[in-house]
Amino acid sequence: MIETPLVAAPELGDVWLKLESLQPTGSFKVRGAANRILTLDDPSRGVVTASTGNHGRAVAYVARSLGISATVCLSTGVPPGKVEALRALGCELVVDGDSQDDALVNAERLVTERGMALVHPFDDPDVIAGQGTIGTEIFGAGVEADTVLVPLSGGGLAAGIALALDAWSPTTRVVGVSMARSPVMAMSLERGEPVVVAEQTTLADSLQGGIGIENRFTFPILQELLDDVILVDESEIWKAMRWALGSRRLVLEGGAAVGIAALFGGHIDTPGTTVVVCSGANIEPRHLAELADELATDARNAGRDRRD
Ligand SMILES: *Cc1c(COP(=O)(O)O)cnc(C)c1O
Repeated sequence: MIETPLVAAPELGDVWLKLESLQPTGSFKVRGAANRILTLDDPSRGVVTASTGNHGRAVAYVARSLGISATVCLSTGVPPGKVEALRALGCELVVDGDSQDDALVNAERLVTERGMALVHPFDDPDVIAGQGTIGTEIFGAGVEADTVLVPLSGGGLAAGIALALDAWSPTTRVVGVSMARSPVMAMSLERGEPVVVAEQTTLADSLQGGIGIENRFTFPILQELLDDVILVDESEIWKAMRWALGSRRLVLEGGAAVGIAALFGGHIDTPGTTVVVCSGANIEPRHLAELADELATDARNAGRDRRD
C-alpha cells in the first residue's frame, strides 16, 4: 500500500487528481482490506468477502501477504478481466448469483458454515477507516480543497473520506459521484432509507451493487456528512476515461473516471479547488483497446489535417 500522488490537472481547472489507481491491486480497496484484516482477532480460519472485483483482489492480496487463506464470492456479472486477476492471486472463488447482493449472501453463509472472518466491501468501521486515510493524505498534501469528488457505490470510500475531512477540514465539500444506471446509494439517500434496485450494466462496473437493506454504517454516515450526489451517464464516463488515457496516459476504469466525468458534464456549481479521487485502474482489456483505437484514429485524422 502506498501514499498515492496528488497531481495537478490544470487542463480541467483548479483540479487535482488523487491517483488511487496506482495502488497495488490497482485500486484504493487495499487500504480498507488491510486495515480490517490487520485488526482481526483471529484470522487463522481465513477471510471471506463478496466483491465486484476490486475489493476481492485487495483482500486476496493482503491475505496472501499475511499467509492467510481468502475466499471471494462473485456474482456472474463480474467482468472476465477481474475474475482472471483474482485467480492469479490464488484465492478460492465462488462464482454464483446474479448480483453483488447475492454474492454477499454467499459470503455470509461461509462465515456461519466455516467460521471465516468477513471482510465486508464497505459496511464496516475498519474498512471505512482504512479508506479514510485518503482524506487524511489529501489534507496532508496541503491542497486546500473546496470540493472533493468521490466515486460512490456502497459508500465505504466516501464515508471514510467524509469522516476524515470532517475532522481535518470541515468546510471542504465532499460530493459523491455515481453512474446514472442504478445509483443505489443516491436513491437511498433521496428516499431516506436503504433501497434495493436491480443492477444494470455500466462502464462503472466497480460501482455496481446495493448498499445492503440492513446497512449499518455507510448510509447513516453519508446521510450526515455527504454534501451532494451527482450522477453521470455512460457517454460522460467514456469521455472521461478517454481524456485520462489520451491526455495524461492515465489508465482509469469507468468507476474511477466518474469524478472527471462530473467535471466534464458541468454538473458541479462553483467547484473551486477540486480534488478528484481516481479510485482504480482495473479497466477491462477490451475497453482499453477500444479507447486506444479511438485515440489512434484521432491522431491519424489530426495528421491528415496538418498535411492538407
Ligand atoms: C469499490 C470501488 C468504488 C466505490 O467504493 P465504495 O466504498 O463501494 O463506495 C469506487 N471505485 C472503484 C475503482 C472501486 O473499486
